[in-house]
Amino acid sequence: MSTVLITGANRGIGLALAGCFVEAGWDVHACCRHPEKATTLQSLGASVTIHRLDVTDMLQTENLARSLSGVPLDILVNNAGAKEPGSAFGKVPYEEWSRVFAVNTMAPLHLAERFVGHLETGSRKLIANISSRMGSIGDNDSGGSYVYRSSKAALNMVTRSLSIDLADRGISAIALHPGWVRTKMGGSNAKLETDVSANSLKELMLNLRPEDNGRLLNYDGEHIPW
Ligand code: NDP
Repeated sequence: MSTVLITGANRGIGLALAGCFVEAGWDVHACCRHPEKATTLQSLGASVTIHRLDVTDMLQTENLARSLSGVPLDILVNNAGAKEPGSAFGKVPYEEWSRVFAVNTMAPLHLAERFVGHLETGSRKLIANISSRMGSIGDNDSGGSYVYRSSKAALNMVTRSLSIDLADRGISAIALHPGWVRTKMGGSNAKLETDVSANSLKELMLNLRPEDNGRLLNYDGEHIPW
């Protein structure tokens, strides 16, 4: 049985990803901050195990990794993400920066460190970081969003280093842009439904080409410049 661990799986893209992997017959370790409130996630069925995890709580992450020791993991999906309400030039919410950075940048690396042993014993050996096109420097032609953009640009760098550092252990790392998706973060004008994005992301993860390792990919497989 193949196994995936997904953070921020109670709503939005994370919840849709959990549903896609369940449909594909996978065992899903679904993490969220408040399992007791995650009613849709609870209804996905017996192949889902729900874990309490605030990804910025390093002790909780360590305890979770320990409680799952001996469980092989095929894919780690760092999906949990945060965005500041707005950060136009002159109105940057500096007090938000460290919180967003902790969720979007530090937590994915910390999860990778804690779950590397689980991934080594899995068969696919993939770390998929849900990043954003907004973290691409080459693609930035509209400015603004200083906090979110910089946190995702840094996540892209983390992903690249992971792909190099873990190559000897047979583990790949990719950064994925899910598209503009109708979620609390994406807003109601977004173009994509969560299930369409999640299904494409799942297919990408399952059909990774060797040249994709260490790159930023759009949900349709196109390479996005760093
Ligand atoms: P949502 O706002 O719908 O969901 C965000 C998820 O992250 C929630 O499950 C939330 O949990 C979780 N989360 C936030 N902070 C923490 C934390 N400290 N610990 C654990 N979980 C946390 O956003 P999306 O589904 O749209 O976003 C998913 C990912 O996709 C993010 O990384 C985002 O940056 C990325 N993305 C989204 C785009 C879009 O258009 N929607 C575009 C590009 C990238 P809780 O319910 O407890 O708050």
